[in-house]
Amino acid sequence: MAEEAHSQVIDQVVQEALDKAYMTEKDLTAVAVSIGPGLSLCLRVGVQKARRIAGGFNLPIIGIHHMEAHALVARLIEKDLQFPFMALLISGGHNLLILARDLGQYIQLGTTIDDAIGEAYDKSAKWLGLDLSRSGGPAIEELAREGNAKSVSFSIPMRQHKDCNFSYAGLKTQVRLAIESKKIDAKIPISSASYEDRLSRADIAASFQRIAVLHLEERCERAIQWALKMEPSIKHLVVSGGVASNQYVRARLDTVVKKNGLQLVCPPPRLCTDNGVMVAWTGIEHFRVGRYDPPPPAEDPEDFVYDIRPRWPLGEEYAEGRSEAR
Ligand code: ATP
Ligand code: FE
Repeated sequence: MAEEAHSQVIDQVVQEALDKAYMTEKDLTAVAVSIGPGLSLCLRVGVQKARRIAGGFNLPIIGIHHMEAHALVARLIEKDLQFPFMALLISGGHNLLILARDLGQYIQLGTTIDDAIGEAYDKSAKWLGLDLSRSGGPAIEELAREGNAKSVSFSIPMRQHKDCNFSYAGLKTQVRLAIESKKIDAKIPISSASYEDRLSRADIAASFQRIAVLHLEERCERAIQWALKMEPSIKHLVVSGGVASNQYVRARLDTVVKKNGLQLVCPPPRLCTDNGVMVAWTGIEHFRVGRYDPPPPAEDPEDFVYDIRPRWPLGEEYAEGRSEAR
């Protein structure tokens, strides 16, 4: 279904982007495309389209790591953001703490051992019967403002592990149990809930959010102290990915980052959640240092094997054979 949805809209999306920029393919210098990580069928739709444009108009092609793009888009909005810097990438499928030493050189300081924070927001929102028309995250953020964040006691994940990894599966289960014990019925949408029912849902949302973010704060603090020993010239921590749109997340992390002598850089929400700008910008960064592939043939041969990397840890080298021409 996901592949079909991608195939159906890709031509129109690309055309719309060109129209809005008052450009045609002839005005392009190169084509950047996400090649991983992600669902291979969906990645293939994007790569196929990119190769068709690049082949048709004789343009170089630049394969991009989706999570690198989430991090580097911060350099588009903050011109002072130089390497080395740290990044916390929080989205639906990832929870990464990295040290970006240089373009293409990333050290992973921490990752999730199970779920990402965005997954915990999305499931909690679903179980609380919230309106999911945008996604679960914004719905929880909004409802949490009405609740008491200390009313339900959830435990902070992984306290006994003195590392920078994350875990959200246990907190997710704690939320589900709290919902069950308060007899909240997700089939009754929040808009039709009684005043008391709404309040008890808001208390759970606020308490969940407080602990979910405290976990981020603790891991970031440890990571900053560790990274500064290795790279004393670090000045910034970037927070990006869909969950970084959250105002509470931003405010709490800002405090931690400042306390540790760094500056927080958070792209605007529309550049935090998935977007094409971040991929294009990361393409520019790579293109500038000569990291791109030559134009593909105008027509891909039928047995062409797409250069996609569905599983691709950030920090692992870009595919071998990439041209380093400049
Ligand atoms: P990945 O980048 O790991 O492949 P993805 O591309 O699906 O995952 P993004 O678009 O970067 O993810 O982010 C989507 C996630 O961000 C969802 O889980 C969504 O609930 C969450 N999110 C969006 N806005 C907010 C918000 N205001 N508060 C909390 N979470 C949010
Ligand atoms: Fe994403």
